[in-house]
Amino acid sequence: MKKVGILAPQGDFEAHAKAVERAGAEPVLIRSAEELKSIDGLVIPGGESTTMLKLLNFMDLKEPLLEFAREKPVFGTCAGAILLAQEVRNPAQESLGLMDLTVERNGYGRQIDSRVANIHPHADFQQRAGAGDVEAVFIRAPIIRRTGPDVRVLAQYEGDPVLVEHGRHLVATFHPELTQDSRVHKLFLSKL
Ligand code: GLN
Repeated sequence: MKKVGILAPQGDFEAHAKAVERAGAEPVLIRSAEELKSIDGLVIPGGESTTMLKLLNFMDLKEPLLEFAREKPVFGTCAGAILLAQEVRNPAQESLGLMDLTVERNGYGRQIDSRVANIHPHADFQQRAGAGDVEAVFIRAPIIRRTGPDVRVLAQYEGDPVLVEHGRHLVATFHPELTQDSRVHKLFLSKL
């Protein structure tokens, strides 16, 4: 069985661990560079990207993570998506720069900053992961404002990309770990 690490210093890593299990892989909580060696792919969960960034630097995990990502797939959700993007706005902040994306933090504003929406993924997603709409939970979510030429958009909401892949890496601006639908996690497992 494939092993999927969940970056665990901060954020909703427990929900991802359960989602990875439902999708058919073994979840491993990751808190050190050493632990990265035993896994086939890594999930960076939602949470607070600024705090996660500080913890990554504090724990000397940033370099090992970049090295891991050169060979193995990483899946970022929400704050994880912010960490994977090339460029972050509102405000600008450092990131891992693994995907050719520009994201705007808290893109849906403060008033109505969380919502559940039914999104209709592109045919490509439905062929690879299974047919039907996806229930997308957005919590103070970022908006993807720019996608590079090699980025593939798998689903949109209100015209903005919300599930995209760039090579081996995948990001969702919503929280697929908070519903019982395993298709997004299964799609990630198919990339391992
Ligand atoms: N708004 C958070 C940030 O900018 C992300 C929110 C989330 O991960 N649910 O880091």
